[in-house]
Amino acid sequence: MSSPEAKHRVVIVGGGAAGLELATRLGDTLGKRGRAEITLIDKNRTHVWKPKLHEIASGSMDLSAHEVDYLAQAHWHHFRYRIGEMTGIDRDRREVRVAPYLDDEGREVTPDRVFGYDTLVVSLGSLSNDFGTPGVREHALKLESKADAQRFHARMVNACIRAHAQTTPMRPEQLHVAIIGAGATGVELAAELYRTTREMVAYGLDRVDAEKDIQVSLIEAADRVLPALPARISEATVGLLRKLGVDVHTSAKVAEVHADGVELGDGRRLPAELVVWAAGVKAPDFLKDIAGLETNRSNQLVVRPTLQTTRDDDIFAIGDCSACAWPEANGGKGGFVPPRAQAAHQQASHMVSQIRRRLAGKPPTNYRYRDFGSLVSLGEFSTVGNMMGGLIGGSLVIEGTFARAMYLSLYKMHELALHGYVKVALDTLARLITRRTEPHVKLH
Ligand SMILES: Cc1cc2nc3c(=O)[nH]c(=O)nc-3n(C[C@H](O)[C@H](O)[C@H](O)COP(=O)(O)OP(=O)(O)OC[C@H]3O[C@@H](n4cnc5c(N)ncnc54)[C@H](O)[C@@H]3O)c2cc1C
Repeated sequence: MSSPEAKHRVVIVGGGAAGLELATRLGDTLGKRGRAEITLIDKNRTHVWKPKLHEIASGSMDLSAHEVDYLAQAHWHHFRYRIGEMTGIDRDRREVRVAPYLDDEGREVTPDRVFGYDTLVVSLGSLSNDFGTPGVREHALKLESKADAQRFHARMVNACIRAHAQTTPMRPEQLHVAIIGAGATGVELAAELYRTTREMVAYGLDRVDAEKDIQVSLIEAADRVLPALPARISEATVGLLRKLGVDVHTSAKVAEVHADGVELGDGRRLPAELVVWAAGVKAPDFLKDIAGLETNRSNQLVVRPTLQTTRDDDIFAIGDCSACAWPEANGGKGGFVPPRAQAAHQQASHMVSQIRRRLAGKPPTNYRYRDFGSLVSLGEFSTVGNMMGGLIGGSLVIEGTFARAMYLSLYKMHELALHGYVKVALDTLARLITRRTEPHVKLH
């Protein structure tokens, strides 16, 4: 610990679904009362809730209404924000190492820095896992950040404009999008693209025939889409996707991604101008065995039920980058808590009380994951999913308006944790009013 009079230093690395909620809530309580010094480190300047990335990619989201500026958030909620990418931890000195932050032209904005901590919370999320599949790095886009989603969107809009302007016949792969991975991300992107590409074409790109020219393929190695959800949800989803004209390929393992499409394990080739890799999850490679801490095969930091890492009481890990056992006794399947927004939200709430207890000299308590089910949005067409819980005695498949309301409530909980009831209510009202006057699809 720092000297007895010094404030307890809580450093949170990664301001995503878990870390930003934690920094905000600790800032509003301990930071505001001067009982602890809360510092959030993130490699980006702004936060966007990741489950919304497919909306940026497809162009259906007004980013300004959903993006949170870390500096402003820190100012209003009594924590410090420091920009930079964590590259290492020195456990003996209790310091986090952060790389220099460079601007778009490569000029240094902040130098190499270290931040001392008394309690460190690692919440830097996860990346997609390409399992070393050839060609993915060179030819596929990923949906891991706002920049990725914007890159995909720009390429999609350019592809439509190019097709409209060209005088030569369309190439086989032109205006074809292949999405690899039919988990929630891939399914939601496929459904959203159906609507937004048609709206975009309707803005005047009349030499493109949306029905004939635009093709979305969804490729999944498992024998059904949404393999992590009950089979009934997969069946309902695949029916809806096929109705939209999405070409669904299950039991289809990708062997290689090429510049003009995807090659499957059985030798088939699916032509595509844009390929999105949305399969698999792993924590960043630099976390592997970082500072002698225990990590698993997916580079996640292994934590005890208290969310403390197994080898260091002062270092906690929450959200996607942590591996927290989910025992059968608690409704799990003997594996780990899944990398989902609801787990990140719950773990952030648990960490708030853990830190308060630490400051009061009390022992930590165990975290228990509560699975409320999973919901998948199929754009304006439907929302499907399942609800879990003691009250309904297991899993209940839901669809339609009620499912949509539940889906939206997960994001509302995140917004409430960041902004409080009054601002969320006013913002929601403003969004409802302005929605009618705004174009639905962004072209920039
Ligand atoms: C496209 C997409 C759709 C999804 N849809 C759903 C869904 O419908 N439902 C659901 O439950 N879950 C969904 N998820 C998963 C959900 O978003 C994650 O489980 C959740 O965001 C995890 O929260 P987190 O705080 O652990 O990480 P994140 O929210 O990813 O935040 C990590 C933060 O750490 C920062 N960071 C990373 N590395 C460093 C570093 N070295 N130094 C400093 N900062 C760093 C990042 O900038 C980021 O701000 C989706 C994920 C994606 C990508």
